[in-house]
Amino acid sequence: MTRPVCLITGASAGIGAACARLAAARGYDLVLNYRTDHDGAHRVASDVERAGAHALLCPADVADPDAIEDMFAQIDDEFGQLDALINNAGIVDHAASVTELTHARLRRMFDVNVIGAILVAGAAVRRMQAQGDGGAIVNISSAAARLGSANEFVDYAAAKAAIDTFTKGLSDEVAAEGIRVMSLRPGLIETGIHAKGGSPDRAMRLSGNVPMRRAGTAEEIAHAALWLLSDEASYITGSTLDVSGGR
Ligand code: NAD
Repeated sequence: MTRPVCLITGASAGIGAACARLAAARGYDLVLNYRTDHDGAHRVASDVERAGAHALLCPADVADPDAIEDMFAQIDDEFGQLDALINNAGIVDHAASVTELTHARLRRMFDVNVIGAILVAGAAVRRMQAQGDGGAIVNISSAAARLGSANEFVDYAAAKAAIDTFTKGLSDEVAAEGIRVMSLRPGLIETGIHAKGGSPDRAMRLSGNVPMRRAGTAEEIAHAALWLLSDEASYITGSTLDVSGGR
């Protein structure tokens, strides 16, 4: 029996890398997308291949529609199938008030976190529809979509809220074809994204605000994402799952 194929965007680090390692252990072959972190992506590819998975590395900026098309052409050539997607690539910028947000920052925030994610999901759905045997998509949103992130990442929060609404719309569109679409809202998770947001100690500093009094791990998000993809979640679609230590 052929192994199912899962595309993970942003798979070279953090939550995406943890999802890739767990997906390999659960029997998936993998398409590992990332932007520029070749070393990280090769480390993840070695790990998943040691676990018995075949891995295709696809560096591509999800904000670039041509790069997305090229990535899917490579998936078609290499595997000729796509069964699951973890739509995970995402960025933050430094903490800022709304009055400081520039057009360039907003453009990049929405190009990567919203438009890129929607284009990747659309291309994945086209493959799943052509195969005709269903599929599953987990869009990685954020607790920020619900909290608003005032005075910090309000643009990021608005982008992630768009992902939650997109998830509901897409799930309604494709549910009858057996394609399930969910969003997962991580809370505060210890990954490198906080350093990129200009605040390396952010996770540690804010963990006191989490009811469980700690940041989560990328592996805890991966377990939730792989469960949503699995047949154990076969009657779940259009839902948003908070994995946030109660935050
Ligand atoms: P990270 O910075 O550790 O990893 C991000 C990954 O995305 C990397 O593999 C990077 O190469 C990739 N990436 C970034 N921009 C890209 C682009 N334009 N095209 C392709 N790949 C790109 O981040 P993380 O913390 O693992 O975050 C993963 C997802 O989880 C993001 O969508 C993020 O918004 C979300 N999230 C994270 C947290 C948290 O606290 N870490 C909380 C809520 C939501």
